[in-house]
Amino acid sequence: MSKFFSNKHSSLTPYVPGEQPSDLSEFIKLNTNESPFPPSSKAVEYALSSTRSLNLYSDPESVALSDALAKTYGVERNMVLATNGSDEILNFAFMAFTDSVNPALYADITYGFYPVFSSLNGSKVEIIPLRDDFTLSVDDYIGKKGTVFIANPNAPTGICVPVSEIERLVKSDRDRVVVVDEAYVDFGGESAIELVHKYDNILVCQTFSKSRSFAGGRLGYGIGSPALISDLNTVKYSTNPYNINSMTSSMGIGILKDEEYTIKNCKTIMENRSFTVKGLEEMGFKVLPSSANFIFVSSDKIEGGEYYRKLKEKKILVRHFDKEKIAPWCRVSIGTKEQMEAYLEATKEILEEKA
Ligand code: PMP
Repeated sequence: MSKFFSNKHSSLTPYVPGEQPSDLSEFIKLNTNESPFPPSSKAVEYALSSTRSLNLYSDPESVALSDALAKTYGVERNMVLATNGSDEILNFAFMAFTDSVNPALYADITYGFYPVFSSLNGSKVEIIPLRDDFTLSVDDYIGKKGTVFIANPNAPTGICVPVSEIERLVKSDRDRVVVVDEAYVDFGGESAIELVHKYDNILVCQTFSKSRSFAGGRLGYGIGSPALISDLNTVKYSTNPYNINSMTSSMGIGILKDEEYTIKNCKTIMENRSFTVKGLEEMGFKVLPSSANFIFVSSDKIEGGEYYRKLKEKKILVRHFDKEKIAPWCRVSIGTKEQMEAYLEATKEILEEKA
């Protein structure tokens, strides 16, 4: 650390992204919940035909993209804010709706960026533990004050909360915001987007990084009432008005024009997920019920950290978290059928080597 680093930020513990090896051909990469499939060919097609000249700044309002998103979800444009990945809309939500008095409420086991955003923004925090079976009960949030952040499906567990329960939470206190992070919703979860028509205190965040195969494009969005979106725009225009580059914006529109491709890929991932779960359960693994493009797995025969290391020796990357409560577990992204066959085979070998 340099002597110049501000006191405000010098004690930050930054988010640690999953490994991104420089030689991708060396590994089967099941560690950061990306899609194994390329983005829709319409992305490049659309970008080539309509990219705003790059000597100009990108459109700060991302009008064309916001219109395409609004049309996709049946909302007005002023209910949409497109961002640089959904990490950005989440950070904006922490900036806009939490502070040292109004806390952020989130689970003990959830997306690892929430603690980082709260500490970056000086937000008060109340951690609400998941139940022993890793499920989230909205009853644990009802009656408490503060802005709620729920990843639904949750990461790294993959477990989802029914939208009827999200609605119960949202309407239980109309004077606080509920942020629903739906990064993984397209793999079998239930979206709460419909609720934005009924309630002005829900913000739904989604991303192009997972089901739409566009993690490298960095595109996310939030959908909520015009007033919430206006607050988030105030934060955006105070940090980075041109938050989305012109190429990403055009490609995003192309991707939205090819929802069939997205739906087909999600279906394949869900099939590969069932295939993988079956293979693991036959080997005695515990697998939490997942509605995401990853599974959370553990075995009595091998500790989580060791399983991660042994898979890495076999050139398969998965994710292991040091946190005590989930130390026995590893999170495994779902890839192609061939990748999952290789993963199951490597797991079988690891268990045999240990026996
Ligand atoms: N929410 C959750 C729960 C995630 O796991 C991720 C991916 N790391 C994100 C949001 C952010 O994804 P992105 O910024 O790529 O949209």
